[in-house]
Amino acid sequence: MTTQPTLDVPGDVLRPGDAGYDSARAVFNAMIDRRPLAVVRCHDAADVARGIAFARDHDLVLSVRGGGHNVAGSAVCDGGIMLDLSPMRGVRVDPERRRAQAGAGMLLGDLDRATQRHGLATPLGVMSRTGIAGLTLGGGLGWLNGRYGLACDNLVAAEVVTADGEVLRVGPQEHADLLWGLRGGGGNFGVVTSFGYRLHPVGPVLAGGLAYPWETAGDVLRFHDEFMAAAPDELSTAVSLALDPSGAPMLSLAVCWCGSPDAGERVLRPLRAFGRPAPDAITVMPYVALQSAPDAGFPLGMQHYWKSGYLRHLTDGAIGTLLEIATAMPPGVSGIGLQALRGAAARVPVDATAFPHRADQYDFLILAQWADPEESARTIAWARESFAAMAPHLEDAVYVNNLGVEGSDRVRSAYGPNRGRLAELKQAYDPANVFRLNQNITPAANGTRVGRSAEAASGVR
Ligand SMILES: Cc1cc2nc3c(=O)[nH]c(=O)nc-3n(C[C@H](O)[C@H](O)[C@H](O)COP(=O)(O)OP(=O)(O)OC[C@H]3O[C@@H](n4cnc5c(N)ncnc54)[C@H](O)[C@@H]3O)c2cc1C
Repeated sequence: MTTQPTLDVPGDVLRPGDAGYDSARAVFNAMIDRRPLAVVRCHDAADVARGIAFARDHDLVLSVRGGGHNVAGSAVCDGGIMLDLSPMRGVRVDPERRRAQAGAGMLLGDLDRATQRHGLATPLGVMSRTGIAGLTLGGGLGWLNGRYGLACDNLVAAEVVTADGEVLRVGPQEHADLLWGLRGGGGNFGVVTSFGYRLHPVGPVLAGGLAYPWETAGDVLRFHDEFMAAAPDELSTAVSLALDPSGAPMLSLAVCWCGSPDAGERVLRPLRAFGRPAPDAITVMPYVALQSAPDAGFPLGMQHYWKSGYLRHLTDGAIGTLLEIATAMPPGVSGIGLQALRGAAARVPVDATAFPHRADQYDFLILAQWADPEESARTIAWARESFAAMAPHLEDAVYVNNLGVEGSDRVRSAYGPNRGRLAELKQAYDPANVFRLNQNITPAANGTRVGRSAEAASGVR
């Protein structure tokens, strides 16, 4: 029988049996049930450095929790040290310079509320409870991507604690190679304690949903695809296939226009008229209202299993398969999503940031979600079979933030053509692979620092 070592972990620490330990180790995906030796509640970079040093000194595995939303559950570990960044929720907004400096424990809703007080926002995701940290480090795809790019494209500065406990200020002029890697390379290079974002004027937005009779679903998917190919950058959309309360498949489309509402009314007219949608609820609303609209659809305590890839060509074959897998969906609250990655986000050169998936395309996601563990086998089987059926239509590419524990080939597909440079960066900043509970980049054996100015090299402004 193995016994848990008794170790005097420094700082604000929760151990098994302490009040708050179980809620601190819980993550969004209820399938994940891991028990760290200690949860270190980090209030600043010094706490983070102490936690890293302790894990290294005692040869313990280390995990890093931002918002705890990642479906792979990599924020929590078994038998090691979990750095919980959730106490780091401070934010400074500078409306003159259009910059925000945000603590790594912030959730999307926290940051959106702070920036919207000044009529500003940085592109994040679409749900208010996701952590800004994991989201930004993986890319960050949301309603503003067509006009202002991804979250990582708007990351202009960071404070990072490295594997050997150094606290680095990172920006276009300092450790620019690391800034490049933080823009899509996940949590591989260090613990980011503070994120500096570029802000843009945003809101109110023209947004809402359209729901269609199922028999028109194929035509609507085709029309929407052609419509979006010519749509202005201000428009972002997300298609969803799910079951209605009676168990029948349904197709819906959520839209967000982030330009002037009058112009949006004109642009959206043909889309709103096509395919006999139910009377729509598209209206002018505060940006923060849009950002919390999907929250109720993703309650805490649910089991999650996701399969994902990029869909670049919505051919008739792909549409046929989509409709088939939607019809086979198990009863409940699972869904299939196609979120548009487009415009400004798609035009950034592939090597300008670590995030490589720069083309107009859909982030395709089979989102299996269920409450009863008895349903796990059936629901996971549906997700796997559906993904296998869609695979011939997908790129050999996947959004790192959608990945579960899926093996090294899938991780390679997530980093794509940038993986060589990422391995060199890993060698430079974390050669011992201390930060390995993530979609891991193996350190290159003889890597060198990349050393270019990310901002200058990127064309990302
Ligand atoms: C309901 C739901 C909706 C979502 N919607 C979107 C969306 O609209 N757009 C989108 O792009 N993504 C979306 N995602 C995916 C989301 O981007 C990822 O789950 C992301 O990892 C969440 O970040 P987090 O900080 O909450 O994650 P966590 O689980 O806390 O962390 C995930 C990993 O990131 C790393 N990490 C976290 N914080 C740090 C840090 N400060 N420094 C270094 N490494 C760190 C660690 O490796 C950690 O294991 C959604 C996820 C869910 C569950």
